[in-house]
Amino acid sequence: MTDEELREIVCRLHTELVRNDLVAWTAGNVSGRLPGGDRFAIKPSGVSYDDLTPESIVVCDLDGNRVEGELSPSSDTAAHAYVYRHMPDVNGVVHTHSTYASAWAARGEPIPCVLTAMADEFGGEIPVGPFALIGGEDIGRGVVDTLKGHRSTAVLMRNHGVFTVGDSPKAAVKAAVMCEDVARTVHVSRQLGEPLPIAQADVDSLYDRYQNVYGQRSAR
Ligand SMILES: [Zn+2]
Repeated sequence: MTDEELREIVCRLHTELVRNDLVAWTAGNVSGRLPGGDRFAIKPSGVSYDDLTPESIVVCDLDGNRVEGELSPSSDTAAHAYVYRHMPDVNGVVHTHSTYASAWAARGEPIPCVLTAMADEFGGEIPVGPFALIGGEDIGRGVVDTLKGHRSTAVLMRNHGVFTVGDSPKAAVKAAVMCEDVARTVHVSRQLGEPLPIAQADVDSLYDRYQNVYGQRSAR
């Protein structure tokens, strides 16, 4: 894959944020890197999703410095860069303020694993990361420190929103979509009573099956 192809993929994946109702205005971004690569492609700052083109996508080094493109990269670039530097298997990062997931983040409450879809995708609860101000490395550090101790590919950053990771930009977008979906369902369930936990052995077995057996292997 070339930088050009990666910019096209990252550009196109932003339409999924809009299509799945994960973003308001310009508040959400996708980035991706080539496996083992020392650069990543990310959304330019403040550009509306309708106006994104592959050429407008910015390529940065792993310190977050722009190395290709005309525009300034997303204001979340430092966080994405930190994740890529510290999680070598991660090749895609997504950040959104999607409504239901951010509502859990606002309460600082992890989403409990009460749905088989959560066990499948996240291998347990979706954890909460620390409160951190945008700009420096604090957000990225909070994401990495939280995800390193978890199977989950999603973290709710307290009072802020969601970061998801994946072995490709598409996988990270899928995690963002699934995170919002389960955040909504568990929220609705809570309105009517206390959702029932799934036994840890069953969570383990669901996670193992979904990660290793489910689907068309070549299409994952
Ligand atoms: Zn944010």
